Amino acid sequence: MGYKKFKVTDKISLIQETGVANFMRCNIWHVTGHEYDLVIDTGMGLDSLKQWVMQHTDRPIKAIVTHSHFDHSGCLHEFDHRLGHEKESHILASPDNSSVVYAGDWSQIAIVDPKQHPSYSPETYSITPAPLTAHLDEGDVIDLGDAAYQVLHLPGHSPGSIGLFDVKRKVLFSGDALYDGELLDSLYHSDQEVYLQTLERIASLGVEVFHAGHYASFGAARMSELIDSYKAGGNSLGDITQWYTDNRDAIGDMFVDQDWSQSVVKLSVT
Ligand SMILES: [Zn+2]
Ligand SMILES: [Zn+2]
Repeated sequence: MGYKKFKVTDKISLIQETGVANFMRCNIWHVTGHEYDLVIDTGMGLDSLKQWVMQHTDRPIKAIVTHSHFDHSGCLHEFDHRLGHEKESHILASPDNSSVVYAGDWSQIAIVDPKQHPSYSPETYSITPAPLTAHLDEGDVIDLGDAAYQVLHLPGHSPGSIGLFDVKRKVLFSGDALYDGELLDSLYHSDQEVYLQTLERIASLGVEVFHAGHYASFGAARMSELIDSYKAGGNSLGDITQWYTDNRDAIGDMFVDQDWSQSVVKLSVT
């Protein structure tokens, strides 16, 4: 209970937080290294992620948040090494439900399965403060021995959004800067002009595999479709409550594992 792990490559696994609606559940990435592992994003914090991950590795863990939103930062506080961009450090250090974009729309939608998380309640849900222990910014490199990840500052969805780019393998952990779904550019600290520049930059990087903040991984052709559609005004989420009302029937059972059958990477459960 709590989490499920899918193997992507020898070094990269996807961790899914169970009992969270699949349109809300962030992808948690576990990347193994020689001396330490990375956990990229940390879910809503409904169950302990650290305890669960520690059962799968004996190396120390550096936890990285791609940005401060509640679906990514819930378990950050559990880790000793907490890395993210300075522009959202104040939110992570003293989060409230508005600053982590939980208040309002998302608190009104049944995003957590009451059967799996009976103690969850929108009235009491909150993110535990998790001051960053180090800042990551454009140009920093995280060297895991087998792979080196360049830090990219990818603002727009949020001011401190970052990505991690393996230049050699052309693999990008893109957070919420780009995922295979409707993009969110109208949050209180979103900036649509800056977001467009970020998307244009992403399109120019030569990325071949995107491991994103939500939904299945995808390749360069899908990236172009997503960005072109966004530029044409057809791929942004807009009003969240309206989106949920319009899509509720089509979503079906929203607490099942996500279907990655069309993904560029094949998953096996571990
Ligand atoms: Zn986000
Ligand atoms: Zn997200």
